Amino acid sequence: MTTELPERESMEFDVVIVGAGPAGLAAAIRIKQRAAQTGQDISVLVLEKGSEVGAHILSGAVVDPSGISALLPDWRDDPDNPFKTPVTDDRFFFLFKSFGIRLPNALMPPLMSNHGAYAVSLGNVCRWLAEKAEALGVEIYPGFAAAEVLYDDSGRVIGVATGDMGVKKDGEPGPNYQRGMALLAKYTLFAEGARGSLSKKVIERYRLDEGREPQKFGLGIKELWEVAPDKAKPGLVQHSFGWPLDGGTGGGSFLYHLENNQVAVGFVVHLNYENPYLSPFEEFQRFKTHPLIRGTFEGGKRISYGARALTEGGWQSVPKLCFPGGALVGCSAGFMNVPRIKGSHNAVHSGILAADSVAEAIAAGRSGDELVSYEAGWQASAIGKDLRRVRNVKPLWSRFGTLLGIALGGLDMWLETLVGRSPFGTLRHGKADADCLKPARSFKPIDYQRPDGKLTFDRLSSVFLSGTAHEENQPVHLRLLDPDLQKMSELDVFAGPSTRYCPAGVYEWINEPNTGPRYVINATNCVHCKTCDIKDPNQNIDWAVPEGAGGPNYPNM
Ligand SMILES: Cc1cc2nc3c(=O)[nH]c(=O)nc-3n(C[C@H](O)[C@H](O)[C@H](O)COP(=O)(O)OP(=O)(O)OC[C@H]3O[C@@H](n4cnc5c(N)ncnc54)[C@H](O)[C@@H]3O)c2cc1C
Ligand code: SF4
Repeated sequence: MTTELPERESMEFDVVIVGAGPAGLAAAIRIKQRAAQTGQDISVLVLEKGSEVGAHILSGAVVDPSGISALLPDWRDDPDNPFKTPVTDDRFFFLFKSFGIRLPNALMPPLMSNHGAYAVSLGNVCRWLAEKAEALGVEIYPGFAAAEVLYDDSGRVIGVATGDMGVKKDGEPGPNYQRGMALLAKYTLFAEGARGSLSKKVIERYRLDEGREPQKFGLGIKELWEVAPDKAKPGLVQHSFGWPLDGGTGGGSFLYHLENNQVAVGFVVHLNYENPYLSPFEEFQRFKTHPLIRGTFEGGKRISYGARALTEGGWQSVPKLCFPGGALVGCSAGFMNVPRIKGSHNAVHSGILAADSVAEAIAAGRSGDELVSYEAGWQASAIGKDLRRVRNVKPLWSRFGTLLGIALGGLDMWLETLVGRSPFGTLRHGKADADCLKPARSFKPIDYQRPDGKLTFDRLSSVFLSGTAHEENQPVHLRLLDPDLQKMSELDVFAGPSTRYCPAGVYEWINEPNTGPRYVINATNCVHCKTCDIKDPNQNIDWAVPEGAGGPNYPNM
């Protein structure tokens, strides 16, 4: 931007929380609960980039209610609580191309059981939590993206700035230009979920990941279906490994039967895959055609679509959580339990832990320092216990492939359960996901089938169902750090993997007759999954927040 910008107006709070997911909302609620207990007045602001709370939330979801029970012990008495479908039937399959083998539940380590959990829409859980938070006096600003971390001269975080509105595509202020606000706080909590755009900057600046294993990720793609009434089995929860992925690529499916004849079906591909021709979206479409799966959707209708990255590094990848003036909570810190495919309970637990630390600090008259009790407490907390005993599952899977890796991972979880230790110690993840992709010359393109428009679909009709919308006249929020590198490496060496890993068809290489390949970024289609920021082999794509309220508009994902 060449025009000189006006000063930002500022507002002061005790606590600013970036992100109205389960982690951010749990933290907000707990701070207010603590304040009420001690008679303090602690002002709390939650910023949410989605057009409303829940609009950007995408999860499975089978939720372990331990976090909610710790936060709101009487939640079962609230008739409006969204936990309507307890899990009644829990099934695991290993899929081969034309058949599947059901793994006996008795073989599964007890920690994998979904008994006591609920099949829900996490978006609806967040909407419900937001009402609880507002009733306690928390201010929530949906439609406002935190675009910049604010620091003071001593390097402490003092809050965040929301993005400027009405900036034109060329970066200059348009007729409706409005400068973002500076939101200042004694403590700022980053609850942006997996690969948070500001969390990433804070981790870099304070080297919070020093001495930790690299964070690992998966991409989860999900559809919500309304199935024929005779196919609906509310409370049935089914997971699978194996086909259509090859034995060297990690991932699997989930199929959760909810209320109102709705079924959530999704597929996760671990982002340490090597073959640049692999398309997680197409693998998901292929998965639905399996003889054990397709019957559920016959006579049904797809009603929503979306995608989101999830963290997979677990115990050994959790960064240092605090820095002067704030902390990371939820999946911004990577508290996801991979074999259980669950992170929302730990998101809530971490919100509670961080909030307790904040409330103590404010009660003691402190501000802007490190929340050391949060950092010191997480390993011994419910989160640490949950993550520690599954810490080797992902590294074993990455090293030994799906068949042997899962068998060893299962054995390891049993040993952790029975004797409280692992023969493997704590295994390392090794490389970051971006470094796992191999040059295209070692592979052949994969021939994916055309969609039939009934069970399998293309990307563009899918994105339509995500309700994604962005202001068109704004700078592209997917920033190429070096545009030439994209052609030299992403295309020439890796054969354009972004055109396949992006579940929204944002990236295209178009062959121009005279000038050759041109990289096109259809930023308005972006569903904010963050995969490009994670998987680009040169780390040449930086995902920044677009104008607030832009992005998907998920109903109940
Ligand atoms: C496909 C899939 C299936 C899953 N299945 C399950 C499951 O069955 N059970 C389970 O427990 N967990 C599951 N998880 C994991 C679970 O969804 C996460 O652990 C949980 O959502 C993390 O909560 P969070 O609050 O940390 O982040 P999120 O839920 O990601 O929420 C972050 C919020 O912050 C907002 N935000 C981000 N950046 C900004 C910004 N800069 N400014 C303003 N707002 C911002 C986002 O819009 C979002 O609303 C699944 C995840 C995926 C992707
Ligand atoms: S552009 Fe990036 S963040 Fe957006 S949908 Fe595609 S991969 Fe996900």
